[in-house]
Amino acid sequence: MTSSPGGTEPRVIPIVALAQAAAEVPPLPAEADETMVSLYEARKKIYPRSVTGRFVNWRWAFVWLTQLVFYGLPWLEWGQRQAVLFDLGARRFYIFGLVLYPQDFIYLTGLLVISALSLFLFTAVAGRLWCGYACPQTVYTEIFLWIERKVEGDRSARMRLDGASMSLEKLVKKWFKHFLWVAVALWTGFTFVGYFTPVRELGMEFLQTRMSSWEVFWTIFYGFATYGNAGFMREQVCKYMCPYARFQSAMFDSDTLIVSYDTERGEPRGARSRKADPATLNLGACVDCSLCVQVCPTGIDIRNGLQYECIGCGACADVCDTVMDKMGYARGLVKYSTQNGVQNHWSGREIVRHVLRPRVLVYSAILGTVVVAMMVSLALRTPFKVDVVRDRATLARIVAGGKIENVYRLQVMNATETAQRFRIGVSGLPGWWWRRSRC
Ligand code: SF4
Ligand code: SF4
Repeated sequence: MTSSPGGTEPRVIPIVALAQAAAEVPPLPAEADETMVSLYEARKKIYPRSVTGRFVNWRWAFVWLTQLVFYGLPWLEWGQRQAVLFDLGARRFYIFGLVLYPQDFIYLTGLLVISALSLFLFTAVAGRLWCGYACPQTVYTEIFLWIERKVEGDRSARMRLDGASMSLEKLVKKWFKHFLWVAVALWTGFTFVGYFTPVRELGMEFLQTRMSSWEVFWTIFYGFATYGNAGFMREQVCKYMCPYARFQSAMFDSDTLIVSYDTERGEPRGARSRKADPATLNLGACVDCSLCVQVCPTGIDIRNGLQYECIGCGACADVCDTVMDKMGYARGLVKYSTQNGVQNHWSGREIVRHVLRPRVLVYSAILGTVVVAMMVSLALRTPFKVDVVRDRATLARIVAGGKIENVYRLQVMNATETAQRFRIGVSGLPGWWWRRSRC
């Protein structure tokens, strides 16, 4: 029994009618008629076509930048040591002039909080630009794809090669491609280990074949992960493994930058000759060439709207611009914009004006506070650390002269890279005296 909102009269649910409806539900099919439907979708290999354009240039600029930093940083010297070194054995972490110890773990926590907040802020403003331009998965996939194209050719040549039966040419191409992939992957693994073992020593150890088993393990492990993820897994990492792709929608809104297809302008799509007038043919600007699908590294069709598989790389925008140029149409059928921007036909300036909105301001305020707090804490950090601990193994005792002896353990840490002199004293105890038991 229920009552309508604001009403006083109870309402009776027609139970008889429900029972009749239930009786009309057809019986389940007999077991013999059951069919199994697999929910597993086998991977269809994607052969992204090469593309040129301004966003591709930006992507390669980021590939160079990130890789120069990653491969170059371990070789950089700072004073008498490696500029960036996480020396786990000595429990010292060197970052240029900064030396951190396990006791400074709080800074690692701060760094993680800053990274998470930066990601929230960046995603709210610029969508998945990180994925499309600077994520290691994208960067290494781009490098491995470049090698693949150089050895096996572009999309159609690679598809032909994979479809052909084994031959000497196919064997040589495949072998050479994998050889180059493994070389890049192992160099990446070696560089990774070079952040934990001084890289020059590691190089000498490698040349003299005396790398430790852990160093060999991590070089191969990291190299294998690079080889597998960039050579084989590729878009599957973004689609099925990366948690960022799953929770990013929580940070998106109608003013977040996305790669979007202008449906109003593009539809109805259809092929036509360059000289034909689309208005006469009742067609939109999309010539339905499918090039935007062919260049997509995740194999999606951006004309179906925003999809979680889209990593925002802009390859479809680049290729569509070249099609528009050839057809003599205005560029930007596929472009970076926002949902509101496309719907309201906003200019770039109007889109930028809508960047500052409550969630962006909140993320910025929290991020700014954490960054300032961490910088102040680092600036005020004392390079001298000391622990005074009562020795629990030894009880207080009365010694000669009727004095009471207590044992304390002093742990003094010099957190600088230069020798320091410390004077130890005691205050507040009249007639105190101390002796050093051991160091
Ligand atoms: S590249 Fe442009 S014109 Fe070609 S199918 Fe895609 S959206 Fe249409
Ligand atoms: S739809 Fe366009 S922007 Fe998105 S992943 Fe594919 S090519 Fe990149």
